[in-house]
Amino acid sequence: MQEMPPVLFKQYTGRFLISQNSSPAIMPHLVRENLFIGNITDAVDVLQNGSATVTHILSVLSSALISFFSEYKKGLTIPTKEITKVYAGGGASASEDDGSGGKLLYLLEYAGKDLKLVRMGVPVRDMESENLLDYLEVCLDFIDKSRKEGSVLVHCFAGVSRSAAIITAYLMRTEQLSQEDALGSLRQSCEFVCPNDGFLNQLKMYEDMGFKVDHASPIYKSFRLKILGESYYRGDKIDSSKFGADPGLPSEVTSQVESSPIGGKTGTSAFRCKKCRRLVAVQDNVVDHIPGQGETSFEWHKRKSSNYNNFEDSECSSIFVEPLKWMTAVEEGAMEGKLSCAHCEARLGYFNWSGIQCSCGSWITPAFQLHRSRVDMSSV
Ligand SMILES: [Zn+2]
Ligand SMILES: [Zn+2]
Repeated sequence: MQEMPPVLFKQYTGRFLISQNSSPAIMPHLVRENLFIGNITDAVDVLQNGSATVTHILSVLSSALISFFSEYKKGLTIPTKEITKVYAGGGASASEDDGSGGKLLYLLEYAGKDLKLVRMGVPVRDMESENLLDYLEVCLDFIDKSRKEGSVLVHCFAGVSRSAAIITAYLMRTEQLSQEDALGSLRQSCEFVCPNDGFLNQLKMYEDMGFKVDHASPIYKSFRLKILGESYYRGDKIDSSKFGADPGLPSEVTSQVESSPIGGKTGTSAFRCKKCRRLVAVQDNVVDHIPGQGETSFEWHKRKSSNYNNFEDSECSSIFVEPLKWMTAVEEGAMEGKLSCAHCEARLGYFNWSGIQCSCGSWITPAFQLHRSRVDMSSV
C-alpha cells in the first residue's frame, strides 16, 4: 500500500485549500540535474518572479490554460504568448476541446515576465480513471528537451500525484527503471510523492510495454477500451470520434497500414463479412484476450488435464475488437445490441458495455464481438 502523504496534501481536493497553508520546507525539489518537482505555488512563484535556474515549466493541471492560475490566485495575471496548441485524435479523455470535438493534448507558450519561460500546459485531472498514458510521451519529450536547454519544473496542484507520475515515467524511460524503482528513487528527493492508484497501474503498463506507449500492444488496446467503458458508465456521450477507423473505407485503411509498426506481428489479417465480403476489421482492431480466464477458469483447468481436445475446447468462437466507426448501433447509446454489417446488414455479432463471455470462458468488458462463423479471415 502507498504511504499516505502528510495531512497538508490530503486536503488539496478542496481545490485551493493549499494556498492557505504555508508551503512545505523546501519546494521545489531537485530530482535530477535540471529537473525539479513542485506544486502550483512553486509554479506561480517562478511565473511571477522569474527564476535563476528554471527556464521551462511543465504544468499538469485540470486545465492547460494559464487562466487556471488566475483562478487559483485571484488577481494574478501572467503574460503569455502562444507557440502552439496540439489536439489529440480522440485518444485523450480530458475536458478541453477545440469546439469540434478534438481534445487538447497540450499547449505550448512563452510565459512570465518578459515571456522568458517556456511553458507546456497539459490537461490531466488527478483521478484514477484519467488517461495518463496518452499524455505521457509528449510530457517526457518536453522534459528531455527542456533539460538540454536549461532546467524544467514539473508541477501539478499539490506536487504529489500527477507531477510525480510524470517524473516517475521519465525516470523509468531514461534510466530503464521499473515502476517501483523509479518511484523509490523519486521519493529520495521528495518523500511525500504519491501518484494515485490508477496512475500507478498505467505506469506498470508503460513498463510492460517496454517504456513506450505502444498503441498496437494488447495492453494499450484493452486499457483504451476500459477507459471508454468507464466514460460510457459516467454517462459521457459516446460518439464515433472515440472509435477506431473503419477499415472498410479505403482512405482509412491506408493510414492504418502506414501506422502499423514496421515488422510488426500479424498486421496482415483481415476480417470480412461472410455474406458480402465487406472488410469489417483488421488485426490491429482486435483486442486479444487470454483464453479461459474469468469466471469459468476452474472448468478450464479441468479440461486442460485431458489434453487431446484441449485446443478445440479453447478455440474462441468470437473475436473481440475495439468499437469501429461502422458500428452505428453503438453510437445510439444503448447498453447492448446487435452489430450488423455496414453493407449488407447481416448480423455479425453483438456488443455489450457490461461485457460478454467468450466461449473459452473469458469475460471481455466492454465487449464488441464478431462471431467467427459470420466473418472470414484473410490477408488484407
Ligand atoms: Zn476466448
Ligand atoms: Zn455484409
